Parts: sequence; structure tokens; C-alpha cells
Amino acid sequence: MSDDFDGPVSPEHEARAVSEQMVRQQAKPIELQIFDGVRTDRGDPVMPVRLQTEDMFAFRCHKGVACWNKCCHGADITLTPMDILRLSRHLKLRPRNFLAEYTVPAIHEQSNLPIAKLKMTGEDGKGACRFMHAVDGCTVYADRPATCRYYPLGYATLKMKDSEEKSEFHFLVKETHCLGHEESKLQSVAAFREEQGIEDYDRVNRGWTDILMKMASWRTLGGPGGKDVTPQAQKMFFMVSTDVEGFRDFVFKTRFLETYDVDEAITERLKTEDELLLALGFDWMKSVLFNEKFLRMREEVLRAAIARKREDIGSA
Ligand code: SF4
Ligand code: SF4
Repeated sequence: MSDDFDGPVSPEHEARAVSEQMVRQQAKPIELQIFDGVRTDRGDPVMPVRLQTEDMFAFRCHKGVACWNKCCHGADITLTPMDILRLSRHLKLRPRNFLAEYTVPAIHEQSNLPIAKLKMTGEDGKGACRFMHAVDGCTVYADRPATCRYYPLGYATLKMKDSEEKSEFHFLVKETHCLGHEESKLQSVAAFREEQGIEDYDRVNRGWTDILMKMASWRTLGGPGGKDVTPQAQKMFFMVSTDVEGFRDFVFKTRFLETYDVDEAITERLKTEDELLLALGFDWMKSVLFNEKFLRMREEVLRAAIARKREDIGSA
């Protein structure tokens, strides 16, 4: 043992130190940043400033700024389910083809769940975004990803380990290359969100962000049932989040609808409404990952499952 050891010296001290550590751990917040701005690779100092909905900030981005398009190079953009839907429609591509052509797979570090990121040009992926036009800017502007809409705001949720309550807030990301902060246009966070059309994205992505957040917080406690998410569950989460057609096939061409009790009128709408299908997918993932009962199993399936379980216990 080294001379500078300053840990517990008796069982009483040890017990107190452990319990203090537990208190510290319980009080430690779990913070998940969903949209943390279009970060570039220039190592710019970032100054996050926490903002409430009615707080004002000065910012304007327009073709006249000297930094025009700078933020669209080497950008680290996680695509949300709504981004993939909107961009696929914009490009008239099937989501899985959009995925193959324009994205790279990645793992969301805090939750260990698979996600897709927008592929940048250049061998090192540090070049321009493929949707960027040198003069006109973003060529998919009407359907640009949520991260691009949020910029220069970030969005985070914060949860204490011992509580189900979470607080959500915005923060301002000030990167030195971005001159939009020197413009005089003042706006509230709420007005900026409305102007950028963020609400629609947040509404559709809500189930997805809930899952990332909950899984991140479960992992800090050892994961569901003390285990990490299984490769099978990761695969299903990726399918639901990125391939709406694949998930539709899964719902209508497997025993999914025989297993889960989905209202008939809703089932009919699921055939054509992608956003509704996403909502079902995230409810289903919440049942699979966290045993949350947003989706009810059919009575007969549940009874059969219970009978099988009893038989297993009886024969054990
Ligand atoms: S999608 Fe548009 S706004 Fe976003 S990085 Fe690409 S060009 Fe820029
Ligand atoms: S002002 Fe900021 S957001 Fe606009 S082009 Fe320049 S770096 Fe990008």
C-alpha cells in the first residue's frame, strides 16, 4: 500500500465511506445530450450556456456571413428517425437505400444502442456534407436533420439516478468559427424552435429519445436486469429507428399482430402512416427493453406464455 493512501482505516470508517459514496453516486445526474450542435473538427472552444424556453439570444445565419457553410464540413450529425423519414422522402429513396448511400452506422455511446450518422465527404469524413452547395447552402433545407435545425442550440435531458423525473433544457453552443452570434437578431428559444420547425421533429422522435435516455440511465446502474442490451434487441432498435418499411413488413408479415393487441382502426392506418408506425415501434421497443406495458399482449398469448412458464417451473 502506498504512503499516500487516505482511504478507510477501520470497518466503521469503511462503512461510512461506502455509504457516502453511494449517496454521491445517487445524487449524480445522468445527462444525455441529444442534439449538441453541429460540431466540427477544428477543436474550437465550445461555450455551452444553459437556456430556458423564454430566454433570449442573439443569432442569425444567412448567406452574407463570412463563415457561410463552414459548419456543414466534417459535421457530426446523428440522424433521428424523423430525419431519415424526411430525407428519404425528399430524395425519393426507400429509407434502407438512403441509409446505405448517405449514412454511416455508429453506436450511441451512453446507451450502447445503434444509430446512423450522416456521412460527410472526404476519405476521413471531414469534408463537406453531401447536401451542401457552395453558394446556395443546404440543398435539403426543407427536410434538413434535427441537429441542423437546432444549431446553435443544443438540447439535453438531465435525470437524477434515484428519480424518474427528468429536466429538459437547451444550451447555446458558441463555436469560434460561427459568426452568426455576432449578428444583432434577438430571439427567444421558443421563437427559434418555431422558426426552425423543431416541434414536429421532437414529437415524432420523442419515443426514440426516451429510449436512448432510459437505456443510458439503466446502463449506469448495470443495465436492464444487470445485463447490457442484447445484440438482438440492438438489431430491432436499429430496424425500428431507421427502416420504417422493414418494420412494417415485420408487423404485417410475422405474428406481431397475433401477439399484440393493436386496435383495428390503428392497424389499418399503420399500413400507410409512417409516423404512427414509428410510435408503435418505440412502444414495442419499450416493452422489449424495459418491460413497459405500452403494448398489450393478447389475452390468449399471455395465458399460453404463463402456462408454458408454469410447465417449465414444474419440470425443473
Ligand atoms: S444537411 Fe444541410 S444544414 Fe445539415 S450539414 Fe448538410 S448541408 Fe448543412
Ligand atoms: S453563421 Fe454559423 S450556422 Fe451560419 S453558416 Fe456560419 S457557422 Fe454555419
